[in-house]
Amino acid sequence: MIRSMLVAMSAFSVTTLMVVQQLPGTPAADSLQVNDSVLLTSPYRTEDRRDSLPAVDPLDPMGIDAADLSDRTVVFTIDDAYHSIFADAYPLFKQYRMPFTLGVITDYVRSGEPTHANSGGFMKRSEIQELIDSLHIEVASHSTSHPFLTRLDSATAWKEIQGSKVILESLFGKEVMTFVYPYGDVDARIRRMVERAGYRIGRAVRSGTPNFWVDPYRIPMFELRMETRLADVAKHIRGRKTTVLLVHQVVREPSVFTEWSIADFGELLAWLDRGNASVVTLSALFREWWVEKLVRFTEEVAAAYPDGRKHLLFQEVDVDATEAAHPR
Ligand SMILES: [Zn+2]
Repeated sequence: MIRSMLVAMSAFSVTTLMVVQQLPGTPAADSLQVNDSVLLTSPYRTEDRRDSLPAVDPLDPMGIDAADLSDRTVVFTIDDAYHSIFADAYPLFKQYRMPFTLGVITDYVRSGEPTHANSGGFMKRSEIQELIDSLHIEVASHSTSHPFLTRLDSATAWKEIQGSKVILESLFGKEVMTFVYPYGDVDARIRRMVERAGYRIGRAVRSGTPNFWVDPYRIPMFELRMETRLADVAKHIRGRKTTVLLVHQVVREPSVFTEWSIADFGELLAWLDRGNASVVTLSALFREWWVEKLVRFTEEVAAAYPDGRKHLLFQEVDVDATEAAHPR
């Protein structure tokens, strides 16, 4: 019964996540993961070969023609909440009714007006609210001021991590489950703080494929950069069940490495739509991840006790029938 319910809840099997991370004038995210050495000894895996499928169809080497993507899940994570995303990418997301996860820097939203001279600045609160209302996007925290968190003392880092969660929840009235590390800058201390602040998910800036063993506080991604070809994105998505994409800005004529072509972006969404890919938010993916964990756990329990519960060490009791005080 439980198992059938869980399986019925398993709506998503393939996921791609898009993340937009880089601010203008800052070094490339990839060069900034100096504090990520803990990953080298981490028990978590970034790649699960069992997820891998043949990447390229010989009849369709570009990988952008018709493809059945109904068992593929894609998550778009968009960092920084640039206004260009609202102006240019939002109409496309709306056309295909696709949600995404938006990493918001609270200082920039609270000012009420776009604060950055480049690319028309950042989204206003009312614009983010419109995305929530019309597309059911997920608002994620991208800190209050976009610092290198590992360089901060703990009190300041806590304000960036926990303070931004409180602000976003009061601005939009919804639990904020996801934290997006500015510049992908995270170490064991920052990861612990993110977990303690009540987030359930942390999105990193490292390449990889989310899988069953992934650390939910270091979700890996595939980054859309200026030099990334549309065919490579399609190939990546076709080659694995779940893809998390990182996107910074979508513009007509990309000129810096964090920008991607709006024309290619439109083609990508159309291709996902034609192929019936499942496009979900990161928090929706996280729920699915837990469902699948529970399914496995349930199966393990069933296998461990093939003849029922007579070997259980702990006796079942009727709490109401006992006289002892029980915390509820
Ligand atoms: Zn960022």
